[in-house]
Amino acid sequence: MRRITCALSLIFVVASGAAVHVQNAPQPLNWAGDDEKRVAELAAGGNRDDGANVVLWTPAGALGADERRALVARLDRGVAALRTLVGSHDWQTVGDRKITYYVSADRFVAHASGRAAVFIPLIRLQDGKAPYLHEAMHELLATAETRGPMDPARLERIKQRPLWLGEGLPDYVALTAAASTGTTEGDVFDIGGLDGVDRTCATRLAGPAGPEVLRFIGAVGRPDALFTTERQTVAPTFYACSTSFTHGSGPRFIRQGEKAQAQAARIQLEQLGLTLDTYRLDVGRYPTTQEGLAALRQRPFGVDRWDGPYLKKDVPKDPWDRPYIYRSPGEGGRPYDLVSLGADGAPGGEGDNRDVTSWEGDKG
Ligand SMILES: [Zn+2]
Repeated sequence: MRRITCALSLIFVVASGAAVHVQNAPQPLNWAGDDEKRVAELAAGGNRDDGANVVLWTPAGALGADERRALVARLDRGVAALRTLVGSHDWQTVGDRKITYYVSADRFVAHASGRAAVFIPLIRLQDGKAPYLHEAMHELLATAETRGPMDPARLERIKQRPLWLGEGLPDYVALTAAASTGTTEGDVFDIGGLDGVDRTCATRLAGPAGPEVLRFIGAVGRPDALFTTERQTVAPTFYACSTSFTHGSGPRFIRQGEKAQAQAARIQLEQLGLTLDTYRLDVGRYPTTQEGLAALRQRPFGVDRWDGPYLKKDVPKDPWDRPYIYRSPGEGGRPYDLVSLGADGAPGGEGDNRDVTSWEGDKG
């Protein structure tokens, strides 16, 4: 009898200990656990919209047809810009597949899948904080499909990766692509874009999460709390500092700041070209050399069917802070020419100084 009592009280202690444990200890988050369910629900009753570079699935009734079309157009531009910046490589799992966006109404952390598909909570779309391009970047950088349960040995290897780079690089490129296409990337952790990220990181490092996060910036591994119910205690600091450190160290280590600028110019020229085409559809011709790109912002004198402004912000300057050269008609029978003279601001040149032009890559 005495032994039974002992055993019972022991069970009680263990049971109450377990209960306390459940309340206080961080629990692992499994944000991809319901992905199959999300896909099935959207396939059964959601809206599918196709773009050139993306497929968008949204819950029925969440967005109107016009809103869905506008979002697809925006994602198309963004993903095209990401692909230009990243390039296409043999090691990419994504290949030339479209990025499929599954927007679901349940609560979870936005994530990528390694299968050319990303998952975004509807609430993030609604509050303007959806990390559309960040998650698409994970797909463009994925080197292996992830499916099914993870074996412990592989999980241990993954935990040793430098997560600051794994998250900082997608953030950095996403922000660069968003800026070059005139869109904004959802700022989940209020880091304030590339202009604000260094300051945000510094401020947050001085806070309570600072020491725990700093150990993993520029080093291997990751703060475990990121993957538990305590995620919010470290994530805002971790993401700000990962992006800041990538932003600061990229050009120094990789020595491709010049190339990135030329690519940014190319993306901007493509966007300006699309905008000029819209202008021509309305007005019936491109702006003249005299009217210049300013015609995209302000109605030139005597132009009737102008329906602008065609640019939301001022006419962009090139990445070296000089105005793009515009002329119409262009040379060689082209309807217009757009040119950035490169780092030297003078015609011709090699490498950094090479001109970036709207007709480069045209056939003939
Ligand atoms: Zn991420």
